[in-house]
Amino acid sequence: GSTIGILGGGQLGRMMAMSAVQLGYRCIGFAPEGDNVAAAVCDAFHTAAWDDSDGVRAFADACDVVTWEFENVPVETARTVPAEKIHPGPLALETAQDRLTEKRFIEGLGGRPAAYARIDSGHDLESAVDRLGAPGILKTRRDGYDGKGQWRIASSRDAQALKLPDVPLIYEGFVEFDAEFSVILVRAQDGEIRFWDSTRNVHEGGILAAAHYPAGSAVEGQVADARVLARKVADALNYVGVLTLEFFATHEGPIFNEMAPRVHNSGHWTIEGAATSQFENHIRAIAGLPLGDTRTVAPGIEMRNIIGSEIDGAYAFLASSNSHLHDYGKAEASEGRKMGHITRLSLDTRG
Ligand code: ATP
Ligand code: MG
Ligand code: MG
Repeated sequence: GSTIGILGGGQLGRMMAMSAVQLGYRCIGFAPEGDNVAAAVCDAFHTAAWDDSDGVRAFADACDVVTWEFENVPVETARTVPAEKIHPGPLALETAQDRLTEKRFIEGLGGRPAAYARIDSGHDLESAVDRLGAPGILKTRRDGYDGKGQWRIASSRDAQALKLPDVPLIYEGFVEFDAEFSVILVRAQDGEIRFWDSTRNVHEGGILAAAHYPAGSAVEGQVADARVLARKVADALNYVGVLTLEFFATHEGPIFNEMAPRVHNSGHWTIEGAATSQFENHIRAIAGLPLGDTRTVAPGIEMRNIIGSEIDGAYAFLASSNSHLHDYGKAEASEGRKMGHITRLSLDTRG
């Protein structure tokens, strides 16, 4: 039995560790102090600051392979782990942690993000709104997730009234999309790539609320193009593990939103709904095992997040057929916090 190290202690790490344990690995976690719900599934959990390089070195020494479940692990932390031990490589983190770097990278591969402008001052924002128009969204370039660090700009008057935070920013034109979807793939150490089916993803207040399969006609015609880009991204980064790209489906084809160099919330349905889950295939890829079949095994699937409320009430869903509850074991609910999710399979009919 070898040992897998996971940087980050959230629910993604917890579900990753469950798959690793099933395959006979031991898991060790590493994250700063917090409600590290992955710890319950790990043999050991190191609680230390990301910049505790001695701590990171000791953690890496105890592991045969290291991965992350959190895309804002500092690149320096990832680079402290010996390069041959960490999958995906730190370059994927570096590329995805800055929205500006990420969009330029995507354009370099022929992908199309929303119109954007780099914002370092109020003046930059006013000219970006003049040039790209409004509505739009102002985002922090770094550290955003679940819609945090974003401001909707409805007009140039809005832009003038806003007091800019003192961090690097980016302004994006608002995309009038028909639907949102994600492409989730796994890439093995020998370069083999497998895709899961894409779901239609519904966000509320910038947070993923639900994922639906089948994704419907607005999405289905755009998945092939989106996969071409996702494959280029994975190959360019010599990526090993699960990689996610988020897209807007529009009448002009798929517009790239952002990427996540990790397993993804919109892929939680794969635990019950695919022959091999994103978590298991991530572990297989980083451990150098053969990949599992990614095909969808039910004609209809719905995944819903339980956000911001105590999870106790959600247990009632288990009474409806083919429903599965995942309780992340978080100590306290707070607004916008992902507490768990429910996956419901329709086994007889589509939808
Ligand atoms: P995640 O938790 O997915 O990492 P995030 O904080 O990085 O979220 P984004 O994916 O940038 O946020 O945006 C969250 C949601 O806000 C999107 O899924 C989409 O619904 C909406 N959104 C973001 N950017 C745009 C845009 N340019 N045009 C239209 N809608 C947008
Ligand atoms: Mg994001
Ligand atoms: Mg997103």
